Amino acid sequence: MRVEVLEPHGFCSGVKAAIDKACHALSFGGRVWCLHEIVHNAMVVEGLRAKGMRFVESLDEVPAGGTILFSAHGVPPCTRAKADARGLTVIDTTCPFVVRAHRQVRTYAEQGTPVVVVGHVEHAEVAGLVGEYLEFGPADGIKVVDAVADVPALPFPDCERIGVVCQTTLAADTLGGILSALRSRYPRLVETSASETCTATRDRQRAVRSFVRAHAQRGKVGVMAVGGAHSSNTARLAETAESDGARAWRISGPDDLASCDFSGIDSMGITSGASTPESVLAAVCGRLRAISVA
Ligand code: SF4
Repeated sequence: MRVEVLEPHGFCSGVKAAIDKACHALSFGGRVWCLHEIVHNAMVVEGLRAKGMRFVESLDEVPAGGTILFSAHGVPPCTRAKADARGLTVIDTTCPFVVRAHRQVRTYAEQGTPVVVVGHVEHAEVAGLVGEYLEFGPADGIKVVDAVADVPALPFPDCERIGVVCQTTLAADTLGGILSALRSRYPRLVETSASETCTATRDRQRAVRSFVRAHAQRGKVGVMAVGGAHSSNTARLAETAESDGARAWRISGPDDLASCDFSGIDSMGITSGASTPESVLAAVCGRLRAISVA
């Protein structure tokens, strides 16, 4: 079995900036709290926990006057207001791609333009976007869809001007299909750069697709997507490989390889989510290469 590491890999710019800011804050020796997981990778979270970071699910768990870090996924304005009201010092690591989407949603809200968010309703990034709209726009002006089948059920009239923004880590095919359905139903649909996934997501999916297509003629292709169990962009990498006809596995680290059956695979591409440490990818590669020559 031929094993190839797909480019790009390693932390994306947003994850790297968030972790750097967290490490910088912790370097002064004070206590720092983080609202939810800083990124969806258990190794990163545990590494920061070992340096003294405390992870909480609510601002109520942070003592008055404490320092709170908001993750790369962003937060709704009501969370910022609550942090201010409690006198918390905020370290904001919201990724610039997510900030862009928040700005666009706010513009739509202030215009009174209804918005469709393409994304997973339970994801922190989507919750932040919905909260942004609800702060400045009507309560019934925003809806979340994650499948083409959701589009006919949207309550906005077909003739209305509708804005669309998306979660940054969606699969290109899924997003493309939903945007097509929205365009068909809403001739006045407004698309902007906030209707696109981020560069890191696009580049990784493109690399998976190129690898699968380049090797499909030479035998059976597999793709190993390495990343945290809750990492949306890692899940989409595995889906992208499968949608192009490859066999795909999604694993957290080298220990998960024991349960994978690679029989019949001729070419294996290894990719990783945007929050997967390089050390985990290297460990997976080493183990896979050992298996492939055994
Ligand atoms: S995956 Fe994209 S949106 Fe998320 S932190 Fe990385 S660059 Fe930013």
